[in-house]
Amino acid sequence: MDTGFDVINPATEEIVGTVPLTSADETDAAIRRAHAAWPAWRAVAPGDRARLLRRFASAVDADIENLAQLEVTNAGHTVGNARWEAGNVRDVVEYYSAAPERLFGRQIPVPGGVNMTFAEPLGVVGVIVPWNFPMPIAGWGFAPALAAGNTVVLKPAELTPLTAIRLGELARDAGVPEDVFQVLPGKGSVVGQRFVDHPLVRKIVFTGSTEVGKQIMAGCAAQVKRLTLELGGKNANIIFADADLAKAAATAPYGVFDNAGQDCCARSRILVQRSVYDKFMELFEPAVKGVVVGDPGQESTEMGPLISAAHRSSVASYVPGDAPVAFRGSAPDGPGFWFPPTVLAPVSPSDRAVTDEVFGPVVTVLPFDDEADALRLANDTEYGLSGSIWTRDVGRALRVSRGVEAGNLSVNSHSSVRYWTPFGGFKQSGLGRELGPDAVAAFTETKNVFIAND
Ligand code: NAP
Ligand code: MG
Repeated sequence: MDTGFDVINPATEEIVGTVPLTSADETDAAIRRAHAAWPAWRAVAPGDRARLLRRFASAVDADIENLAQLEVTNAGHTVGNARWEAGNVRDVVEYYSAAPERLFGRQIPVPGGVNMTFAEPLGVVGVIVPWNFPMPIAGWGFAPALAAGNTVVLKPAELTPLTAIRLGELARDAGVPEDVFQVLPGKGSVVGQRFVDHPLVRKIVFTGSTEVGKQIMAGCAAQVKRLTLELGGKNANIIFADADLAKAAATAPYGVFDNAGQDCCARSRILVQRSVYDKFMELFEPAVKGVVVGDPGQESTEMGPLISAAHRSSVASYVPGDAPVAFRGSAPDGPGFWFPPTVLAPVSPSDRAVTDEVFGPVVTVLPFDDEADALRLANDTEYGLSGSIWTRDVGRALRVSRGVEAGNLSVNSHSSVRYWTPFGGFKQSGLGRELGPDAVAAFTETKNVFIAND
């Protein structure tokens, strides 16, 4: 291992641990071990692989409080959110534990013999995870990959390695062979890049910025490497005049400020029908000012700090001195990388804060006139991940949800992720889908075998 790097608590700026950095050579060795472990892993009887995954899920379940506290300390997540995130890993591993026994092929009628299809695992899968949701995003990659009979090398974000390392230990404790699931903390430019470049890694699952995602896609082209991309978002929260305005306004802070806005699904562009714009802002202001920002370890806290000083500077660049701050919430003074919930209005559709993924607690509010105008504004972005539509008109809910170019929409709700359902982006928000019943197919190749009658 290279020299270690310090893990910082973003709420206190204290060093909470030192984690070794995996080198390029060590990454190559880990990939070779994962490849060597693959034949035995894919040969494990389906029921036994299912049982191992269920034991892994139980180990995560028994460790939820510990995992949650690690994430509070390492990522500044509120303790309530962190418990949900650890629970999500348990749920996702349990959900995909059903897959090994259901990797069905098909018998297709053809003349002259019998034709069968098989769902074959790919080999070594490299999972690259960002710092904003270290636990769930890791699980969405490794759980279906392992279930389908692949081995996995996982690179957590450099800033947030602690829960991934713990998940690796829990998998081993549950009996998942060491080389089948390896966690390699380190730099994206070293470990992540080796995943992309190494020919024995047959698929990359990358979640992160659109910018790095494009580089990874280009790198994968050299070997026609399989690729799932979950990238950025700039999601619209479209509020029509006929909506339950009180509920829309009361929940809009959660829609954008959850995880301090460091959420690819953050509804960071609020679009409000002009006739209720003033009324909405009146209701939204106390909701924003009421967000409890502070010590993420306190049960009552609703928003913690940003991940790092550098990220806070980037977020702050969207709120310069002359920014049109309509109102904002509060945040503690330092230490800690705090930034208050901030509402920008009036804004123009071409403002940086409206076009860029700020990835912090900053939301813009724009008025619209009618359905067509709402759709035009909602789709005026290179991204297409998520969004909300608030209306009591069922026909409108349907028309607008069909019209928004995004992968995950909620009507009268701000939720995005339900592990039973597919998750992923349109346009530059990604490629492929995670979660839901079909995710396992992204970790297998279809093989067709014909056996002649004579
Ligand atoms: P990032 O900078 O793109 O990094 C993501 C991961 O890629 C990190 O582990 C990073 O390592 C690694 N990496 C960096 N350069 C690499 C390279 N050349 N080759 C291989 N791996 C490399 O993203 P982030 O700043 O951590 O996370 C924020 C972004 O993630 C936002 O844009 C957000 O929207 C997106 N996101 C998307 C989803 C989704 O599901 N669509 C979910 C969550 C987040 P280091 O840690 O060493 O930099
Ligand atoms: Mg980054």
